Amino acid sequence: MSEHESFDGSLAGEVRAATGLNVSACYQCGKCTAGCPMAEEMSLKPHQMLRLAQVDSRERLFEDDSIWLCLTCETCTARCPNGVDPARIIDCLRELALRAKASPPRRIAAFHRSFLEQIRENGRVFEFGLVANYKMRTGDLFADVTAAPGMLVRGKLALLPKGIEGIGEVRRIFATCAQAARKEGR
Ligand code: SF4
Ligand code: SF4
Repeated sequence: MSEHESFDGSLAGEVRAATGLNVSACYQCGKCTAGCPMAEEMSLKPHQMLRLAQVDSRERLFEDDSIWLCLTCETCTARCPNGVDPARIIDCLRELALRAKASPPRRIAAFHRSFLEQIRENGRVFEFGLVANYKMRTGDLFADVTAAPGMLVRGKLALLPKGIEGIGEVRRIFATCAQAARKEGR
């Protein structure tokens, strides 16, 4: 089966083709939601996202912010009694949402881009650069600014980035991903 084969064109079929995972195996026990650290913030809880994927309700899923709030912490996947892997499925739903031109909320997109830029440049997160980059992207320059001096004094924020040894490898991975995205027209 090719990566992009979608069986019957349904959302569940597209998830299956991309990940090999079966959303129909979810029996809505809710254990994933019970352990999810972000569930309180989500208007659609993890088990509800799975249900919407089962019934092919992609519009409802893609118009909601909830898929973008997932931290990919995999608590839900560890708790699922049926091996459904909701964390991977939600990640796949985000990929499918992007392909369908559904955009993440502006602040979440800005945070993702700022985070990835730090990883590409340093191979790890440089918190000061991450915050500065995020603020430039959102224009939210002064929010939380009073917290910075205290964090600097306590050594929670470094002023200069520290790179990693394998940074060349990391940059090659980014270049390969960018090339693949260009081929897909993203
Ligand atoms: S824990 Fe697994 S089976 Fe239960 S609702 Fe979540 S995904 Fe479905
Ligand atoms: S991976 Fe996402 S959905 Fe699963 S527990 Fe973590 S934040 Fe919640």
